[in-house]
Amino acid sequence: MQLFSIVFLVALLAHLVVQAWLARRQIMSVAQHRNAVPDGFAAVVSAEEHAKAADYTVARQKVGIVEFIFDAAVLVWLTLGGGIARIGEIAAGLGGGHIIAGTAHVLGVFAVLALLGLPLSIYRTFVLEQRFGFNRTSPRVFMVDQIKGWALGLLLGGAVTACVLWIMTSAGPNWWIVAWLAWMFFTLLMTWAWPRVFAPLFNRFTPLEDQALRSRIDALLERCGFHAKSVFVMDGSKRSSHGNAYFTGLGREKRIVFFDTLLTSLTPPQVESVLAHELAHFRLRHVPQRLVVGALVSLAGFALLGWLSLRPWFYSGLGVPVASAAAALLLFMLATPVFTWLITPLFAAWSRRHEFEADAFAAQYSDA
Ligand SMILES: [Zn+2]
Repeated sequence: MQLFSIVFLVALLAHLVVQAWLARRQIMSVAQHRNAVPDGFAAVVSAEEHAKAADYTVARQKVGIVEFIFDAAVLVWLTLGGGIARIGEIAAGLGGGHIIAGTAHVLGVFAVLALLGLPLSIYRTFVLEQRFGFNRTSPRVFMVDQIKGWALGLLLGGAVTACVLWIMTSAGPNWWIVAWLAWMFFTLLMTWAWPRVFAPLFNRFTPLEDQALRSRIDALLERCGFHAKSVFVMDGSKRSSHGNAYFTGLGREKRIVFFDTLLTSLTPPQVESVLAHELAHFRLRHVPQRLVVGALVSLAGFALLGWLSLRPWFYSGLGVPVASAAAALLLFMLATPVFTWLITPLFAAWSRRHEFEADAFAAQYSDA
C-alpha cells in the first residue's frame, strides 16, 4: 500500500475516533443534566420541556455517530475502493469532450453520494423529527424537495463544475487564481440570487402583515441604526415546527426573513430579541469578516488544489490510476476534510466568540 493511502486512512480513522468521542462526551453531559433546568431558565422552561430537549439532543447525536461511520465507509469505497475511478470510466464511456465527461464524472459521484445519503435523510425526517413532534413534512413535500434539489444541483453544480474544469484545462499554470475569481463571482451572484430566485422555489415568502410587530421591529432597527428594505415571513411550518430567523442580501438590499413557526411560538418581545441577535452579526461586522475569511480560505484551497493536481501520488494514493482534472477536483473535495478537521476548533472558537458578542449586543438593544 502507498504511503499517502496509509496517511489518508490514519487521518480518517483519527477523525472518526475524535468525532465519536466528542459525541459520546456530549451525550453524557446532556444526560447528566437532563433533570435539572439551568438557573435563570426555571421561569420559562418547564422540567418536562428541558428533559425533552435533552432526549432530542441525545437522539440526534446518536444518529450523528451512525452517519460518521457510514460516511467514512462510503469515502473509503469511493477512493481506495475504486468508486471514483469506476464512475469516471462510466462517464468517459458516455462520449462527449473531456469537459462534458469530466462534468458527468463529478455529478455522477455526487449523485451516488446523494442516493446513499437518502435513507438517513428519510430516517431523520420521518422517524427522529417525527418522534419528537417536530416533523411537518409530508412524503409528498419530501419527494418534491428531493426532485427540486436534484434539478438545482444538476443545473448549478453542473455549470460551476464545467466552468472550473474548463479553467483548469485551458487557463495555464496559474489557473487556480482564475478559478478562484470565478468562484468568488459565483458566490456573490448566489448571495444576490438565492433569496430572489431559488429560495422561492422551496418556500412561500410574504411581507410581514402584523403591524404591531412591524413597528416594534422598525423601532429596534432605528435604535441600532440599521436599514433593511423588507421584512418577510416564510412558511417554515410546511416542513418542520423548528423556528428561525435570518438576514439575506448585501448593502442596502438586505431583507429580514422570519419563519412563521418562530412568530407563533414566541411572544413579540422574544421575536425582537431574536432579531436583535441576528442584527448584531451585521452591526458588529461579523458578516463581512466571515466573507473575507471565507474568500481567503477558498483562495488557499484553490492554491492547494493547483499543487495537488500535479502530484501523481495524490491520485494513485487515493485509488485513481489515471490523473484528470475531474478526479483532482473530486479527490480534493472529498479527501481534504479528512485532514482539515484538525483546524475546525479554531473556526468553532471564532464562531462562538461572534455568538457571545451578538448575544451581548442583543441584551443591550433589546430585552435580555
Ligand atoms: Zn448568531
